[in-house]
Formats: sequence, structure tokens, C-alpha cells
Amino acid sequence: MNKYSTLKGVCDIVPPDDKLWDFIEEISKEVFSIYGFKNIRIPVIEYTELFKRGIGEGTDIVEKEMYTFSDRSGRSITLRPEGTASVVRSYIENNLSDLPSPQKFFYLGPMFRYERPQKGRYRQFYQIGAEVFGSSNPSTDAEIFSMLNMFLDKVGLTNTQLQINSIGCPICRPNYISSLIEFFSKHSDNLCTDCQNRLQKNPLRLLDCKNEGCGIIKKDAPLITQSLCGECVNHHNQLKHLLDLQGISFIENPLIVRGLDYYTKTAFEITADHIGAQNTVIAGGRYDNLVHEFGGAKTPAIGFAIGLERLALLLKDKEMIDKKVPLIYFAILGDKALDKALLMAKKYRKEGLWVEIGNPSDSLKSQMKKADKFNAESVIIIGENEINSGIAIKKRMNDGVQEEVNIN
Ligand code: ATP
Ligand code: MG
Repeated sequence: MNKYSTLKGVCDIVPPDDKLWDFIEEISKEVFSIYGFKNIRIPVIEYTELFKRGIGEGTDIVEKEMYTFSDRSGRSITLRPEGTASVVRSYIENNLSDLPSPQKFFYLGPMFRYERPQKGRYRQFYQIGAEVFGSSNPSTDAEIFSMLNMFLDKVGLTNTQLQINSIGCPICRPNYISSLIEFFSKHSDNLCTDCQNRLQKNPLRLLDCKNEGCGIIKKDAPLITQSLCGECVNHHNQLKHLLDLQGISFIENPLIVRGLDYYTKTAFEITADHIGAQNTVIAGGRYDNLVHEFGGAKTPAIGFAIGLERLALLLKDKEMIDKKVPLIYFAILGDKALDKALLMAKKYRKEGLWVEIGNPSDSLKSQMKKADKFNAESVIIIGENEINSGIAIKKRMNDGVQEEVNIN
């Protein structure tokens, strides 16, 4: 029995998965920087108020998923359940609106939500997220989808589906919410307990319920598409036109509402059908009022977050490429050989090569076995003869090709 284990729903990411994770992170940085996004490092802890205000009191996250505690001076602190609220706070606090507009940022790191752990759903999980501030134009929404397409393409994830919706704005949504409340009130006895609660606090979220019984009821629910105001309709149509223009396929799903309160207009999810129930890999949307609500100037914005565990699960199924750095293994006999190997290793590492040095007190045979286990690309043996002649043999393991190297 292990004396210690991780908390429930919290995972170690250990080799060989480290390569896959590095790969995903590198691709995201590469692709996002092509689109002009800058890295922003936001804190893991914030005042609880930030999330309550930003995410919304009636949401699942704020109601039951936050890791909240009092610090030593009695302030209420929360481990971040998502990144957008912090980026918006930081945007205002650091006057980032002074940067050339639109301002684009991405972040990467762990998030914390007290959820029921299952495949693809954890209590500590990683997100790569991005936010754009200062553009209300649907071309910005379209650019985000173009960037995500490139990202998915480069990480090698195929068979995904982009689902879009518009959830309106403060002008048209209240009417829609009223019609939702009217509709669901008639069925309230047959709703799950969560949905009966949502009916009071967050009616939009009724559409997002995964419960089967609620699913049957919501089939007949009024759709937001029919309630959008002229401006929201235009925005949505223009976005669809720009997606078509770029050959980005999508489906319209009027049930996509997102769990957070701050969204306006475009809401979207990218799903992949082979990871079971937790099939949303990327989710996001527009939030044109949050910056202002947080005390900043009126600033339209749009963002998204990629769930890394879910993405890694999908790519692992596809036997992701193990991005190999060629390894040179030094099998060495005696301390003098160790001196030589150390000096040569320094040189090779400077060239960016991965070097491992055997233990001089191990036999040659056991060092060769280790080289094999490491899957070393080539082995250099240094013993007394090599030290005397100043020449060693570098042997490539897969085909046995040999090359002389000067060990001085
Ligand atoms: P879900 O409906 O699956 O609970 P969500 O709407 O709560 O997702 P967001 O807050 O929008 O998700 O987060 C964006 C992405 O982060 C999700 O699409 C998912 O890939 C990932 N994600 C969210 N919660 C978790 C979690 N508990 N464990 C692992 N990944 C998560
Ligand atoms: Mg959730």
C-alpha cells in the first residue's frame, strides 16, 4: 500500500505522456503566435469575489465547484476554476488596453473544480485559453475558428465538429429567458432537481442539462434563434458567411449555451465523438460586457479554452508521435573514460543533443543493455584503448553504421 496518493480527481502527468503534453503546448504557442497572441501568466489564486462576479452566482461552478478557503488574514480566496475572469481583471489592472488593438492573449495552466471525477473530468485539469479584446466584429470570431482549425490540424486531431450558436445580448436575451421560464415551468415536475434549481437561478442552463428526462422535455423548448435582435442576427449571419468563405465546416446547435454567465452572441463548442460522455474538447464564446462589468471601459471580447486532458486522451488513442531527440549513450570503462565522456557530453548538449553517460562501475554489457532500454540512437564506447588512441567508435544502433570520433 502506498502511504500517500493524489487527491481524488487529481492526476500526475508522467512519462511517456510528458512528450505528448509538451507537443500540444508547443503547437499551441506556435500557432497562437502566428495569430498575434501574447502569453499572459495569471495567478492560480484570486479573491473569491472575482469569480462570483465574473462567472455568475447561479452557475454550477460558483454554486458547487469552487475550491474556496480563508487565508490567514481571513480573506476569501479561490483556486481559479477558469482563466477568463483573471485575464479580464489583469487586462484592466495592467492597462493592457494601451497595447495595439485588438489585444490578444493566451494562457496555459491548471484549473480547479470540485466535480465528480470520471474519464475526461477531473478536479485539477489544464486549459490552454485565449482571449481577444477590443473587436466586436464577427471577423474576429472567424479568425478564432481559423486559428483553432490550424491548431487541431497541427496536433493531428481529425473528426472534430465545430458547433456554433448565438445566445443573444442584453437586448434580446431577456425576452427569450422569459419564454424559456414559461415553457419549462409547465414541465417543472418532470425536471431533474438541478434543473428545477436552474429554472429559478439560471434558466439558460436548462438547455445544457445532460439528464435524459430533461432531454426529452427540452426538445420542444423555444429556440433562441427565433428571439435574436437584428444586430445579433447580423453578427451571426456574417460569421457564418466568413466560416463558409474559409471552408471551415460547422453545424448550428441552438442548445449550446455555455455554463458561464458572461457570454453574449457567439457561443461554441468543438466536440470529438470518440471520448465518450465528456466529448467537448474546446469551448468558448463572445463576452462583450464583462470588461465593463469589471469596471473597465466598454470593451467587446471573445475567448475560448482547450481542455488538455481531453485533447491528450484523444491524441493518445491515435498513438501520438514520440518527438525524439537523438540520444547518444556513452558506455565507459574506468574513471578516465568518465572524464572524457563528461567533456564530450558538454559539447554534444551544446549542439542540442540528448546525452546519457553510463556508470563506470557497471560492466560494458549492462551499460549496453541500458542504452538499448533508452532506445539510444547511437553508442560511444570509451575504454583504455580509446583513451590511448584518442579515437572512439560511434555506432548507430538501428543499422550498425560506425563512425570514428576524436575524443580529445
Ligand atoms: P463541461 O460541459 O464538460 O462541464 P464546461 O462548459 O464546464 O464543460 P468550460 O468551462 O467551458 O467547460 O471549459 C472549457 C474546456 O475545458 C471544456 O470543453 C473541457 O475540455 C475542459 N474542462 C472543463 N472542465 C473540466 C474538467 N473538470 N476536467 C477536465 N477538463 C475540463
Ligand atoms: Mg463543467
